[in-house]
Amino acid sequence: MLEKRPFTELYIHIPFCAGKCDYCAFYSEGKMEKMFLQKYMEKLFSDMEKEASSCLPLRSIYFGGGTPTLLPPEEMNRLFQNIRKNFTFEKDIEISMECNPVSLTEEKAAVMGAFINRVSMGIQSFSSLFRKRIGRRDQGKNIEETVEKAIALLKKNSIYNIGFDLIYLLPGQSLIDWEQELRKALAFEITHLSCYSLILEEGTLLAGKYQEQDEDLSADMWEMAGAVLSENGFPRYEISNYAQMGYHCRHNDNIWKGASYLGLGPSACSFNGKDRWTQSSPLADFLAGKEAEKDVIGDRERLAEMFIMGLRKVAGWTKTDWENVSGGLSFLSLWKETIEKNIRLGLLQQKGNTLAPTEKGLEYWNDLAESFI
Ligand code: SF4
Repeated sequence: MLEKRPFTELYIHIPFCAGKCDYCAFYSEGKMEKMFLQKYMEKLFSDMEKEASSCLPLRSIYFGGGTPTLLPPEEMNRLFQNIRKNFTFEKDIEISMECNPVSLTEEKAAVMGAFINRVSMGIQSFSSLFRKRIGRRDQGKNIEETVEKAIALLKKNSIYNIGFDLIYLLPGQSLIDWEQELRKALAFEITHLSCYSLILEEGTLLAGKYQEQDEDLSADMWEMAGAVLSENGFPRYEISNYAQMGYHCRHNDNIWKGASYLGLGPSACSFNGKDRWTQSSPLADFLAGKEAEKDVIGDRERLAEMFIMGLRKVAGWTKTDWENVSGGLSFLSLWKETIEKNIRLGLLQQKGNTLAPTEKGLEYWNDLAESFI
């Protein structure tokens, strides 16, 4: 049923941080040693050479981590040169990099300006008290000043498309505290906001410290984000993402719509339209050439997985977008009863050829997702 497709999006995982935050479940090393950095780069470049022929001209590149802006400027430059050497790009390619404002310097911003056109800045919270409570490392003394300087450096180098990442439901955080965070973020010249609820992931230091989370407060904070941000020109376009018109993260948008993506670096995921796999981690395993872990499931399950990912988006699926990635199978032919049931429950809505989640469907997305699996 499903056919393999060439990759159109590229993700690169930079597996180094200046320290490990207590809440973080992403794979990264808590420090960057020169020898490992060199070995990581060489392995990355050799993987690029191997995989480049399975890519179409790229529509987006995303550097995530870890802390990509921890890379020294000369290594960043080497990385960009190697990408240019191996891949071709669509004319209006979006190239995003996650950025820790503390690690940004004049030199790095200049190197980034020659390649990157979008930056996602990890803020998490403007309050030093809450940052401390969740064990956020490396944020400078005065975060607002640090962020302002980082934005000025990026703009000086022609990077104007800048977004923030915030986390809510922090230990002891009230609804009013959260509203203040949102308003502080809006005071900067940004185009995009991602707001994630704190998740106490098993195995993280924070999960050992706090256990209980208030689900009702979490729902109130999510609703507050929707209201405050849309009033200020940042409507929600995905469960946790808000943007000014024309400033969705195209990389993520494409992935939610079933695009095929190549992930390079330890723990990076790839999807070729049919199969999904995850590069090995930690770094030592990745460097030793340990095989990627394949996620082998049947086409029917893969279709459901792709479908529910698209229902994270406010716009949902158009008939055409879905049939382009499903091998021509309509969503009604696959899940007529489940779709009708979710429409009756007020979780989905059909408008012409589009099927989209309602606000309730976004809020209860886990229930919606489960009904298709
Ligand atoms: S800086 Fe980001 S990736 Fe690194 S440990 Fe902290 S949250 Fe995780």
